[in-house]
Amino acid sequence: MSAADQNLDPTAVLARARDGQPRHDWTAAESRALFEVPFNDLIFAAQTVHRKHFDANEVQVSTLLSIKTGACPEDCAYCPQSARYDTGLEKEKLMDVDLVLAQARAAREKGATRFCMGAAYRSPTDKHLDRIIDMIRGVRELGMETCATLGMVSREQAERMAEAGLDYYNHNIDTAEEFYGDIITTRTFQDRLDTLENVREAGLNVCCGGIIGMGEETAHRADMLRTLANLDQHPESVPINQLVQVPGTPLHGEEAVHPLEFVRSIAAARLMMPASHVRLSAGRTEMSEETQALCFLAGANSIFYGDKLLTTDNPEADRDRALFRRLGIRPEQAERVEERRSRCGSACASTDDEQDHAAAG
Ligand code: SF4
Repeated sequence: MSAADQNLDPTAVLARARDGQPRHDWTAAESRALFEVPFNDLIFAAQTVHRKHFDANEVQVSTLLSIKTGACPEDCAYCPQSARYDTGLEKEKLMDVDLVLAQARAAREKGATRFCMGAAYRSPTDKHLDRIIDMIRGVRELGMETCATLGMVSREQAERMAEAGLDYYNHNIDTAEEFYGDIITTRTFQDRLDTLENVREAGLNVCCGGIIGMGEETAHRADMLRTLANLDQHPESVPINQLVQVPGTPLHGEEAVHPLEFVRSIAAARLMMPASHVRLSAGRTEMSEETQALCFLAGANSIFYGDKLLTTDNPEADRDRALFRRLGIRPEQAERVEERRSRCGSACASTDDEQDHAAAG
């Protein structure tokens, strides 16, 4: 349902969003209206809200390491790690703990404050988790924020990771519920929400976003953001990915999304989850510096840094440093990690914490 269908004035929707208060009652028409307002009005509102919650010239930097690559039984149509698609990807077993910690140390030396470990599982076994728990403990001891993305996890598994010191669990909903079956058939949208609930109940911070450019309609983008914004507590991190088209995956050859449409999605995420870190995530290699600059203006304040994402390329660290210099952006400093932890522990257990969390950045 569009704003016009509901006699909704998109300008009024934008005016309400501009106050920057986190809300959990977005209607379909309201969220879709953000994709209809004039671009300049949208960006101005998003930047205004961004400044209410964050230092506008500071960007949080994460590094992502694939700790177990490929051979995944799931059929996500965008993913080169699915065993169902021939993408030429080399499979790798779960890495040794020492190797992972060496990579985390190197990432810290390059300025990363958060280290994300990704494993291509439908869900990890408890035996896999034993080793991953050692990785989490080790990365935490380095003073970095820890994040893991391992597929679906039970409440017990989430609790084990929380006890080991995991700060964030990443589990993306990918797209709107209505479009989900076009992209993944081996699990349901509800499965995703169930894991998010398990993670939240274990007291972990949530990292959850989606992918733009999979052939979805604009309304689907709005609906995906509405699902996230209407959770009891907004995800602390919201990665917005642009589809990286990998030959051999079903989505290779999909029509590319227009850069300004991507920027619009970032701005809508900023307005709908004003106190969350919005991450300009996969797809930056294909983006011009101007598009990335617009994304920062629209409220993106987190990136992945380093040569690789899980398996696809990411702009080299030198190029990112040059872009930051040109834009006068500073990487978020390590002290922010301790600020966040001292405010919330590894968990911000109630929605009332959102304002505090926002101030912590
Ligand atoms: S996105 Fe994750 S769950 Fe889906 S195929 Fe890739 S590794 Fe498996």
